[in-house]
Amino acid sequence: MVDSSPVRQTRAVATPRLPSYVGEAGIGPWGTFLAQVDRVLPHIGHLSQWADTLRRPKRFIVVDVPLRRDDGSLAHFEGYRVHHNVSRGPGKGGLRFHPDVNLAEVMALAGWMTIKTAAVNLPFGGAKGGVRIDPAHFSLAELERVTRRYTSEIGLMIGPEMDIPAPDVNTDERVMAWIMDTYSMNVGRSTPRVVTGKPVSLGGSLGRREATGRGCTVVAREALRRLGRDVAGTRVAVQGFGNVGGTAARLFAEQGARIVAVQDVGGSIVDEAGIDPAALAVHLGAGQRIDSFPGATPIADDDFWAVDCDLLLPAALSNQITAANATRIRASMVLEGANGPTTEQAEDILADRGILVIPDVIANAGGVIVSYFEWVQNASNFAWSEDAVNARLDRILADAFAVVWREATERNIALRTAAFVIACSRILEARDMRGLYP
Ligand code: GLU
Repeated sequence: MVDSSPVRQTRAVATPRLPSYVGEAGIGPWGTFLAQVDRVLPHIGHLSQWADTLRRPKRFIVVDVPLRRDDGSLAHFEGYRVHHNVSRGPGKGGLRFHPDVNLAEVMALAGWMTIKTAAVNLPFGGAKGGVRIDPAHFSLAELERVTRRYTSEIGLMIGPEMDIPAPDVNTDERVMAWIMDTYSMNVGRSTPRVVTGKPVSLGGSLGRREATGRGCTVVAREALRRLGRDVAGTRVAVQGFGNVGGTAARLFAEQGARIVAVQDVGGSIVDEAGIDPAALAVHLGAGQRIDSFPGATPIADDDFWAVDCDLLLPAALSNQITAANATRIRASMVLEGANGPTTEQAEDILADRGILVIPDVIANAGGVIVSYFEWVQNASNFAWSEDAVNARLDRILADAFAVVWREATERNIALRTAAFVIACSRILEARDMRGLYP
């Protein structure tokens, strides 16, 4: 006979641990994110009952983005927008163009945005978008058409009070201007607040372009200070010389640090005497490969990880520091400028070796903090000075880092787990207070 008691029925339909669209293993960045969430649960008391909220995105859309190429042929790309969590406010997060981006990766990146906005206490949730395209192979006009079509396809998902995209890997102010214009044309009114990281002439914030790299240096300063050290004299190795790595390298050098190694898509270079980031930016801007930079010595990409330095700044893509290279790292501090650069296994190896990892959700939060400033400035129709932006950024990040540091010290846990404990407590507290609908 069938037992129809409500208790039995509830047990029979217990929630599977992973949503079906993730596949079996949950490996890759989304697997890393899930493992990071699991580490938090023992520390958040009754709120852990809501943990499944973080293990599945709230909603997502996968869209086909057709493109008429300049030569008249047709191409199709996959596009994604994920809202991971909106318990504390509208979705917030960048849009990346990359040939390897996929749904599971965008889910992880959206999850990290949920944690990041909560860790620095911005009134946002977490979202992310991606288009599976290599922009290097397309003209500007083609990229504009891809951006506009993608924006129209995800139009139902974005809005100034719903989800606010921003720049990320391979997207910039110009892409944000196209998104702002397309969205505005579709809704019939100019809506600058639908994106952040816009050109200043369209309501973008002063200081936004440099904010992520600047934030990296603020967090490094705070971490070094607690170890009785100073940015001046610190030897830095940087992976990725884009908006994050390039800016951070320049600001580090301005504060007296020495950039002893740089890796980008074109190779890896070292110079114990110090690489001049401004000169390197000019070199790369002129279309030259990094390994032809005068004065520096090219090395094999694999050997970049073993360079003798104090601070390693991965500022490119996820899953770069792996079990294969974590044993070779000689830095005493890893500052995660990229999102998710360290795999779960590598994280344990670095911890065993006494290497301090400053997690992405704090280290690179400068970008979304100034995005928040931009959104606030747009709402009040008032533009702040660059000094005001930078001073407020510095204060928010230094305060957030102090809270994370204290939590880590008191509980004797890693900085990442501490940041997750603080963030997840805020997110799940909000979830708990809102209650379930219906
Ligand atoms: N893409 C940046 C990040 O990963 C910034 C996101 C934003 O400003 O919304 O944090």
